Amino acid sequence: MSKVKAFAAQEVGALLKPFEIERRAVHENDVLIDIEYCGVCHSDLHFVRNDWGMSEYPLVPGHEIIGRVVQVGEKVKDFKVGEKVGVGCMVDSCRECSSCEEGLEQYCERGSTFTYNGPDKYLGGMTFGGYSQKIVVDKDFVLHVPEHLDSKAAAPLLCAGITTYSPLRYWNVKKGDKVGVIGLGGLGHMGVKFASAMGAEVVMITSSPSKTKDAEDLGADHVLISTDEGQMASHANTFDFLMNTIPVGHDVNPYVSLLKRDATMVIVGAVEPVDPVHCGQLIFQRKSIAGSLIGGIKETQEMLDFCGEHNIVCDVEIIDMQDINTAYERMLKSDVKYRFVIDTKSLEREN
Ligand code: ZN
Ligand code: ZN
Repeated sequence: MSKVKAFAAQEVGALLKPFEIERRAVHENDVLIDIEYCGVCHSDLHFVRNDWGMSEYPLVPGHEIIGRVVQVGEKVKDFKVGEKVGVGCMVDSCRECSSCEEGLEQYCERGSTFTYNGPDKYLGGMTFGGYSQKIVVDKDFVLHVPEHLDSKAAAPLLCAGITTYSPLRYWNVKKGDKVGVIGLGGLGHMGVKFASAMGAEVVMITSSPSKTKDAEDLGADHVLISTDEGQMASHANTFDFLMNTIPVGHDVNPYVSLLKRDATMVIVGAVEPVDPVHCGQLIFQRKSIAGSLIGGIKETQEMLDFCGEHNIVCDVEIIDMQDINTAYERMLKSDVKYRFVIDTKSLEREN
């Protein structure tokens, strides 16, 4: 076992402060990773504030981890010391249920082990995430990250990236499809990049006309202002697929009216109730509203390889660990383009 520096919340809603944690000894299937960067996800803030009622403290967030392998267990053949690797939202699962057998560990019927705030099988207590210097992870939950991708900008691919890539694949988005991405934040900006790389005609749907240029710079072909009823009406029943990244409850009905017959809107942002849905819209045109959670390990690797091939990374702002509390404040105001990423070397400054 080894002690490493981290930042933790000690109680509900507390500021994050320096905290020392234990990492387990490297077992035969384990990879010890020296963390270089960790993205800051909205879920981190939800867990710190116990918004979902399942947080346990002390809590060390962070599930968009990029680093280098420093040691491997004797049964690890696939990862070499010095290699660039990533860890996302999960570090383990039951590996036996039908979801795990299909490579959909995120839907593990016994619950996958989250990278932080999940029951730690090895040390007891809860797992600690990437706001730390090192992490030990079973090889089956470690990802290869293409060397030529910028590490700091690649970190958020491990959550924001796979969250938006997976539904585009599952609903078979292809060249020429008209795809709407609702909301321009950490998730939305990746949705635009992926859909556009897959050859779709991409429409950014936002309530803020001020985001038009940013959306076009990211690759959106058009921008649709959701508060403009005339514009919304002119796009009614025309979309093959919609990805809704709005992070809070809202009225989804105006978006459903944009879908073609048989088309789906997937919700990836709001892990909470939305306003009542008028099912007439669903019934008369056989439309669907669905949800989707990150992606399995195999698909996460496929997404990273796709990013390597198409040179896709996230737009990020680098911060020191010590700036995390200010970053949370700014994130609440959507004052970031589009993801904060912690340079974990800054942890060396603390004791
Ligand atoms: Zn996340
Ligand atoms: Zn399982």
